[in-house]
Amino acid sequence: MPITRRTILASTALAATPIVGPALAQTAPSATAPAQGAGSRQAPGFYRYKVGDIEVTAINDGFAQRPLEGFVRNAELSQVQQAMQEAFLPGNALPITFNTLVLNNGGRLTLIDTGNGDMGAPTSGRWMANFRAAGFDPAQVNTVVISHFHGDHINGLRLKDGTAVFPNAEVMVPSAEWTFWMDDARMNQAPEGMKGAFQGVRRVFGPIANNVKRYEMDKEVVPGLTAVAAPGHTPGHTVYMLSSGNGKLMIMSDTTNHPALFVRNPDWSAVFDMDADQARATRRRLLDMAASERAQVAFYHAPFPGTGHIAKEGNGFRFVPVQWNPAV
Ligand SMILES: [Zn+2]
Repeated sequence: MPITRRTILASTALAATPIVGPALAQTAPSATAPAQGAGSRQAPGFYRYKVGDIEVTAINDGFAQRPLEGFVRNAELSQVQQAMQEAFLPGNALPITFNTLVLNNGGRLTLIDTGNGDMGAPTSGRWMANFRAAGFDPAQVNTVVISHFHGDHINGLRLKDGTAVFPNAEVMVPSAEWTFWMDDARMNQAPEGMKGAFQGVRRVFGPIANNVKRYEMDKEVVPGLTAVAAPGHTPGHTVYMLSSGNGKLMIMSDTTNHPALFVRNPDWSAVFDMDADQARATRRRLLDMAASERAQVAFYHAPFPGTGHIAKEGNGFRFVPVQWNPAV
C-alpha cells in the first residue's frame, strides 16, 4: 500500500486509540498471556559483557529474603525502612541477590565464587541452570577463585551429598581466609552461633585441603585478575581488579551488601560484617576509589546483573547500574 498523507493520519489515529479498545482487547490476551507452565519463569539469569579481551558472564543464583529487623547494626529500623522506601523496596524484608562471575580469557574459564549450591534458601539454588543456559559446562571450569568463606560464596563447590561440582578445576582461596577459618583452635573457641560457619568451610574444603591453592594479595591470581585486600566483612575478604587492554572492572565481592542500603549509607554495618569498623573503612576506601576513577564495578549482592558505576551523593554514594546491552 502506498504511503499517503491519509494512511499516515489513519495510523496516527490508530496509535492514539486507547490500548484497551475493543479491537485490541481481542488480541491482547494471546499476545501477553504466558504459555502454560512457563508463566512463573524468568529469562535465564546470565548477562555478558567485555572487559578488554576478557568476556565476563554474570550468573545469578536467585535470592534470599532477609528480615529488616536487626539487619543493620548501627541504624534504627525506621532509618533502614526509609532507605528501602527511597529505593522502592519492601518495608519488611530485603531481597538479597547472589551473582557470581565467569571470566572467559582466551578459552580458559575462571569462576569467581560459586553461589549457594543446594544449601541455600529455597529462592536460591538457580546457579547451575543459569550457568548451563549460558552455554557452560562445570567440567570445563579451569579455576575457581573464592573471595571469602561465607556459605553463599563457597557452598556451590560441593553438593550436600559430597560431590565436587567442578571436577577439573583448581581451587584458589585467599591465604588469610584459609588461615582464619581452618584454624581448629579458633573454631573451638568460637561462639556457638559461629561454629556452623567453621564446619561449613570444612565440609567444602576438607576433602581437597591438600590441593587448595592459597593466593596472596596484590598478586595476579589468574592472568588479568589481581587480588586486593578488603578485610572487615571477613578477615581475608578479597576484591579484585580485572584488567585487559583498556578495560577495567573492580570486582567488589561483599564490600557492600544491597547497594540501596550500604552504597547509599557506607557507614552502616550489616550483621554479616565480622569487623564492622574495618569493613566500614574498607567500604569507604573502595567506593571512593570507584567513584573518583569512574570505574565499572561488579557486586555479588547487587540486583542482577550487579554491574554499574558509583557516583558520590551527599555523605555517601549511589550505585548506577549499566544499561542493558544486547551486544556483548
Ligand atoms: Zn555474600
